[in-house]
Amino acid sequence: MADKHQPPKRSLLYNAIIVFLVMMFLNAFIFPLFTRPQVTEVTYDAFLEMLDANQVHEVAMDSAGSTILFTAGEEGAQRIYRTGAWPDDDLTQRLLSHPEVSFETEIIEETSPLVNILLGWVLPYGLIFGAGYLLMRNMQKRLGGENAMNFGKANAKIVGEEKTGVTFNDVAGEDEAKEALTEIVNFLHDPQKYAEIGAKLPKGALLVGPPGTGKTLLAKAVAGEAHVPFFSISGSEFVQMFVGMGAAKVRDLFKQAAEKAPCIVFIDEIDTIGKKRDGGVIGGNDEREQTLNQLLTEMDGFDANKGVVILAATNRPDSLDPALLRPGRFDRRIPVELPDLAGREAILRVHARQVKLERHIDFTAIARATSGASGAELANIINEAALRAVREGRAAVAQSDLEESVETVIAGYQRKNAVLSEHEKRVVSYHEVGHALVAALQSNAAPVTKITIVPRTSGALGYTMQVDQDDKKLLTREELLSKIAVLTGGRAAEEVVFGSVTTGASNDIEQATKLARAMITRYGMSDEFGMVAMETVSNQYLGGDTSLACSPDTATAIDRQVVEVVRAQHDKAVELLKNNMASLNRVAEYLYREETITGEQFMSLLRGLPEPGATSQDAGDPA
Ligand code: ADP
Ligand code: MG
Ligand code: ZN
Repeated sequence: MADKHQPPKRSLLYNAIIVFLVMMFLNAFIFPLFTRPQVTEVTYDAFLEMLDANQVHEVAMDSAGSTILFTAGEEGAQRIYRTGAWPDDDLTQRLLSHPEVSFETEIIEETSPLVNILLGWVLPYGLIFGAGYLLMRNMQKRLGGENAMNFGKANAKIVGEEKTGVTFNDVAGEDEAKEALTEIVNFLHDPQKYAEIGAKLPKGALLVGPPGTGKTLLAKAVAGEAHVPFFSISGSEFVQMFVGMGAAKVRDLFKQAAEKAPCIVFIDEIDTIGKKRDGGVIGGNDEREQTLNQLLTEMDGFDANKGVVILAATNRPDSLDPALLRPGRFDRRIPVELPDLAGREAILRVHARQVKLERHIDFTAIARATSGASGAELANIINEAALRAVREGRAAVAQSDLEESVETVIAGYQRKNAVLSEHEKRVVSYHEVGHALVAALQSNAAPVTKITIVPRTSGALGYTMQVDQDDKKLLTREELLSKIAVLTGGRAAEEVVFGSVTTGASNDIEQATKLARAMITRYGMSDEFGMVAMETVSNQYLGGDTSLACSPDTATAIDRQVVEVVRAQHDKAVELLKNNMASLNRVAEYLYREETITGEQFMSLLRGLPEPGATSQDAGDPA
């Protein structure tokens, strides 16, 4: 976007130069009139002669005692003289014997005015201005501006794109969001039609949803569909080092948009400026508030029928200032949620268009294995699969590439060269099979689709993948309990088989504790507390942090109950494994050998079907 702004008439540099020139002038021509005249060098001899002739009036010596300055001469025509100090012990006596001589403590001014100016004025000011200039240039560079001293104007990277090249076809799933945005597209096509009827479209729409769900993509698609320019700026770019810059940027943004109307203005991460203003904290973020106020003013100020539509995106809508959500501002809220099974498949297909695929790729299977993944993660899975195909020298992406990259993206990269000792490998095998077996032995746990003991860079030494048949939105108390049992299954297997425990269960323990705690404090699933929320989720889109809201006594009771819940499930897991030792051994030995077991292999092993090479004397039967 070309910058059409004039630099301010009087920049800081301009002013600084004026002040500087005035000082130079004063120093060079005015001040010397008041400074003392030139010093004349004389010999010590001459000094003594003048002293004897009663011509000396004032005498001063420098601190080192090496130079004497004195004034001498007829009244009204005195001059300054300088002489090297002779090692003269009688000097004081001599001077005292001349009552007309006064002792000066101050060294009489002796340097020449030019040196004086250079040292006293030019040098320090030069240094100050030089350093300041460099500092400012540096900052400006980081802010992306090109003109070092342009404070007044917004040099934000306001990205203006004539064509985004993105359409609704590039956004998979998110049908509800697209539908809501279609009206805006129609409006931008023909603002006149709306104006004639007198219909006012909302000035702004807020895209709300977790990171990576395609909010930015949707905003671009709206511009692409409507064939209008797209101005985007990120909220964090508004918050600047200098107070007032953010507000200036907002002004600038809206001015540019008004010139290009109809168009889209997109403010990404609006929560960085749009946070609730906190009442009167001294030294609070003034800059942010100014920026927000300016945004509100601009939004109120412009005429919606001109065809400027403001879109904004955030993943923390609850932290937004209510003023932003008032009618006439971002009063339309468009949820952009994580994709469901069908949505995930569609997103995978959209991104798969860009890579070469083998025939018969089962996207549904991949979509099933990626419950909870965002659009960005799914796009990444496709890319990882393509990278893997290239690495292995194949010309097209195969199903196995996709399967592998699901794990790469979701569970971290495979670490092929990590070395486990034989014993460690056996422990990990039993640990993972413990999880899988406890899952298989409970009717309401999700089926196991894969067990592996190939370490991940995430630190996990093994990994048991369970996949629900469909997206589960509601979990019963029993299902949650069996989830906890499955999580404790790994540790339980270690105990049952080896009689000792390892550090390998830390993540399981953490998850089990979280689940148990949530059951009690959030889902109302404990008998003691019933349906009382002891914890509230403060941000549902960003990790879902919770905060405790109960008395310390209750907190203690909660902790006790959490321990009880987890212990009960752990006991259940131990029990299940003890009753199915044969299956545990068989599957674990097989896993130890093969390192990876698929869901089907797992099931047939459980049923006691002979695997090639598997020792099968028993027919352990799952419940
Ligand atoms: P957000 O702004 O919500 O954090 P983005 O719009 O930046 O997410 O999405 C990041 C990337 O993820 C996009 O560029 C796109 O490749 C991919 N993506 C996300 N959601 C979708 C979707 N619904 N359809 C297709 N691609 C998507
Ligand atoms: Mg974004
Ligand atoms: Zn585990």
